[in-house]
Amino acid sequence: MFKITPKLHEKIQHFARFPQTGVSLRQMVLFGQKPSQASLFKASQFLHEELPIRLAHRVKDLEELPRYLSEMPSILKVKDWYAQSFQELIELPPPRLSREMKEKLKHASKNASQTIPPCVPNPANVHLARPHLEARLMTLPIGHRYFNPVEDIRCSPEVLTYTDSFVKTIEGVKRRHDPVVTTVAQGILEYKEHRKPQVVDTEVEKFLDRFYMSRIGIRMLIGQHSTLYRGPFRQDYVGVICTKTSIREIAQDAIANARYICEEHYGLFKAPEVKMFCPGDIEFMYVPSHLNHMIFELLKNSLRAVVERYGSDYEDDYPPIKLVIAHGKEDITIKISDEGGGIPRSSLPDVWAYMYTTAERQELEPEFNKSEFKAPMAGFGYGLPISRLYARYFGGDLKLISMEGYGTDAYLHLNRLSNSDEPLIM
Ligand code: ADP
Ligand code: MG
Repeated sequence: MFKITPKLHEKIQHFARFPQTGVSLRQMVLFGQKPSQASLFKASQFLHEELPIRLAHRVKDLEELPRYLSEMPSILKVKDWYAQSFQELIELPPPRLSREMKEKLKHASKNASQTIPPCVPNPANVHLARPHLEARLMTLPIGHRYFNPVEDIRCSPEVLTYTDSFVKTIEGVKRRHDPVVTTVAQGILEYKEHRKPQVVDTEVEKFLDRFYMSRIGIRMLIGQHSTLYRGPFRQDYVGVICTKTSIREIAQDAIANARYICEEHYGLFKAPEVKMFCPGDIEFMYVPSHLNHMIFELLKNSLRAVVERYGSDYEDDYPPIKLVIAHGKEDITIKISDEGGGIPRSSLPDVWAYMYTTAERQELEPEFNKSEFKAPMAGFGYGLPISRLYARYFGGDLKLISMEGYGTDAYLHLNRLSNSDEPLIM
């Protein structure tokens, strides 16, 4: 059984004092375009420093929750996972290079520095003071040093072994944290039942936003690193990022899935139609799984609203849902409009609360649902808040406008420039 010893706790506290370092989508793509052993090694150096800091922040955050909540068994369990992952990472010896390798890297960085696009160094990170890391850093700022596309260099076996054991460790961390969302949700649910609050608890909501946002970031960094290391190497992909994500294709996929789930759930022969308006083939740089998740969640909400408003005898005459895609210089916006009766204005703030749902509550089954948090038709109250986090993670946003008595418009804004800083709260 894992236990947080006082010594480990002290270390966690120490790491939690350092700021987290954000990585933008553009940085990830530039960095991973030609993954070489050397660049992967640099990435593991970065992650070896950055992941324990991020994990330590979360442990601290969990400890600072209202007392009753921080002592819930499920919350304690999650805290142990974070602490254990933290320990595994700091116990891994820091990546080191042979002298020969160091020379090669230095040389490569010098050559590469002339061609580095101006957005690579992240100015927000340049002045971060991290005394315990400083010793290991050379003179270049963090973003510059790690996210610097160096040329391919043949590596010594020492480097390969390190990268290999490092990747295995972080993949283990990712796996351990698979059931975090459902487990935290369980704790919050028990807490809410215990307190029976009439209003949304803003402190807890803020915590959850921070916590899940951080989880998206950590999983993105790990997923990106392990995919770059192991493959599969697919055309137009840099790790899990697709440089030519076709919105039309992703939307078509999400429409088919959402309608299928709707038909299953309500026992319908035919779910409401979804009409897509897409000017040409829009391709942009994004993580397809994130985009799919957001559109899918919004469509399920709209389908549910329409079916529940008209009933299941109305099958042939449901008003269609419209999915409109607009292509601007700064944003790509996807609007999903339904005629499902809308949301009363007084409930609008509630829909962003975790676990707020007007559907019959679904059982949380962390044991059966280990891989990812997959909601069925409705009933977890996680669809909107998590989708908004995904949108914000790469500098976008999600907004709802409702006309009570008619329908709802959801606006999903995606930042096309993709160089916005990773949002790191605390
Ligand atoms: P869930 O779908 O599990 O209930 P969500 O976070 O997706 O959770 O949505 C929360 C609530 O917001 C829904 O239960 C519903 O009451 C309301 N809602 C969301 N989208 C719509 C919509 N398009 N029309 C009407 N109500 C909606
Ligand atoms: Mg939903």
